[in-house]
Amino acid sequence: MDSMIVAVIMAGGKGTRLSSVTGDEIPKPMVRIAGVPILERQLMSLKGCGITKFYIVVGHLGEKIREYFGDGGAFGVTIEYITEETPLGSAGALYYLKGKIAEDFFLVFGDTVFDIDLDAMLSYHRRKGGALTLLAHPNSHPFDSDLLVVDDDCKVTALLSKKEPRGDYFNLVNASFFLVSPRVLDCFSAPEFRDMEKDVVKGRMERYGDVYAYITTEYIKDVGTVSRLRSVGQDIVDGTVSARNRKHKQRCIFLDRDGTVNEYVGFVTKPDQLRLLPRAAEAIARINRSGYLAVIVSNQPVLARGEVDKEGMAAIWRRFERLLGECGAYVDGTYVCPHHPDRGFEGEVAALKIDCDCRKPKPGLFFRAAEELSICLEDSYCVGDSWRDIAAGIAAGCHTVRLTCGEPFAEGHADAEYVCSDLYEAVNYILNGEKENGDT
Ligand SMILES: [Zn+2]
Repeated sequence: MDSMIVAVIMAGGKGTRLSSVTGDEIPKPMVRIAGVPILERQLMSLKGCGITKFYIVVGHLGEKIREYFGDGGAFGVTIEYITEETPLGSAGALYYLKGKIAEDFFLVFGDTVFDIDLDAMLSYHRRKGGALTLLAHPNSHPFDSDLLVVDDDCKVTALLSKKEPRGDYFNLVNASFFLVSPRVLDCFSAPEFRDMEKDVVKGRMERYGDVYAYITTEYIKDVGTVSRLRSVGQDIVDGTVSARNRKHKQRCIFLDRDGTVNEYVGFVTKPDQLRLLPRAAEAIARINRSGYLAVIVSNQPVLARGEVDKEGMAAIWRRFERLLGECGAYVDGTYVCPHHPDRGFEGEVAALKIDCDCRKPKPGLFFRAAEELSICLEDSYCVGDSWRDIAAGIAAGCHTVRLTCGEPFAEGHADAEYVCSDLYEAVNYILNGEKENGDT
């Protein structure tokens, strides 16, 4: 990490929902989790990535934070404090940093536990060249979360409030962990109340269009309630928090879509043709609570055949994510082959009519996912109903599980290591003996 990079930690929140733990005697960031104050965990995690200079914004009971950390010397870092005389919301205190910070900086909220590869996020931020990069991920309760809308380049184009009717959606949530360019500070002209999402992110997005989402499967959760404090504490103790850092190889369950997660009806060309198979969402929710990623690998030749265009395909995937989201499940990635090798259909898209390396039974999609999501293929599984899924999984070096609930298996092809009736049973087989966590 570049030695000029600093982190700003917003530690002024009152933490009303944790009052049974704080007794209103310590500020929320000083609540101990697995024996260590949340704020100390944050400092140590950021320091582990090479950050040594911190600005901590304190408010209510801020003197407790100053007493504990002092100038940071005892922790091997330098700390400067900014005191909010009156509460300025989640972002208002950034005003006081104008002129103090000349480089991009990390902005962290004092009620989160995380373990993030900051170098990877920083190089993404610089590559995109935006003023704000926000860390984003799907979660298990998108229906009551504010959601991000991004374009193909991951530029944030809209924020969908949970208070508005939204129809289908991609499950993508702002995790409250940011990389901020100092030019964002120029927009603060006085110490006024500002909300990070509603004022800063939205304002920037609307006026300048330079906000990007950095989508990662790494661990970050807020510990704003007593039950989350307990479940995240457990995740720290058993190593789940650090294991998800993308510097470590991830285990994954690759899932075929049609015939595996949703009913097999031939080619899906419209959102209403998607109906989840019984227990499929429940099975994916179990993967989400395990140490495995859930990643879809799907052949969608309807794109090459010209039966569905790009927007039509996006609408189908939005329905898919919404159906899973309603059941508390999500996928960590979606990899699609849009190609088809045989030419000569009316309305086909010539550019997609190629003999690609990603159409299953070829393993290209698996290799792409492994590269982007830091997956160890040998420790991963492929679950699907057709011979193509199993052949692709084998070619990728994964373990394989075949389902009998979709397409009939074509004779003469190599079969999977394990055969079972549906996804739920497959996930049971894979996770047998694995520990599962709370809500994500
Ligand atoms: Zn392909």
